[in-house]
Amino acid sequence: MPRYPYLLFDADDTLFSFPAANRVAFAAACAVSGLTFSDELLAQYEVHNSALWRQFDRGEVSKEFLVLERFRRFFAELGIDADPRLANDVHLTALGNSAVLLPHAAEVVKTLARTHRLFVVTNAVARVQKSRLSQSEIAPYIERAFISEEIGAAKPKRTYFDYVFAHVDGITRDNCLLVGDSLTSDILGANEYGLKCCWFNPDHAPNHAGLHVDYEIADLRELYDIV
Ligand SMILES: [Mg+2]
Repeated sequence: MPRYPYLLFDADDTLFSFPAANRVAFAAACAVSGLTFSDELLAQYEVHNSALWRQFDRGEVSKEFLVLERFRRFFAELGIDADPRLANDVHLTALGNSAVLLPHAAEVVKTLARTHRLFVVTNAVARVQKSRLSQSEIAPYIERAFISEEIGAAKPKRTYFDYVFAHVDGITRDNCLLVGDSLTSDILGANEYGLKCCWFNPDHAPNHAGLHVDYEIADLRELYDIV
């Protein structure tokens, strides 16, 4: 009998390589906005994008606002008259078409699916994450994906986890493990909801937030001994 028969996996930067997808998507957004892609432009955009996602994690802005505002601010900084809506639309479509998995993610998901029930818990734009998941080789092994935009609440909010728990039969706080890379959404959410958590931390970042981490791994294959 597994220790944690129910596994809740974050998607971006836990199973999927977000930087790889984001780079391709940003380049596509540049192309329709009259810009030539460069790493410098990507870094400039990321300043606005990550600041807005942090605000989103704190519940200060909506997803709809965030996705347009990041491009509005980026274009304003550059002083160009490009359409944030078009840029975002192209960006999201390209993101959804990129299903680059992190090392060992496919092997680990396929192996654990034989003995565990696997779910995805993700803060994301629904159309992007659905498209990416469905195009991915791990799709058949994931019983259900809980996408924040569809639920109307996001990690680390209690209401998000209430929804997950109401829609997974048999799950309890003791028989599940949340696996994720983000301290502010995954680990904080698990702490506040009373779930065991595994921090996927391949870069060996420090836990500045002082959150409780039950397990810490740098390679997804380490899960075999934990779950
Ligand atoms: Mg993540």
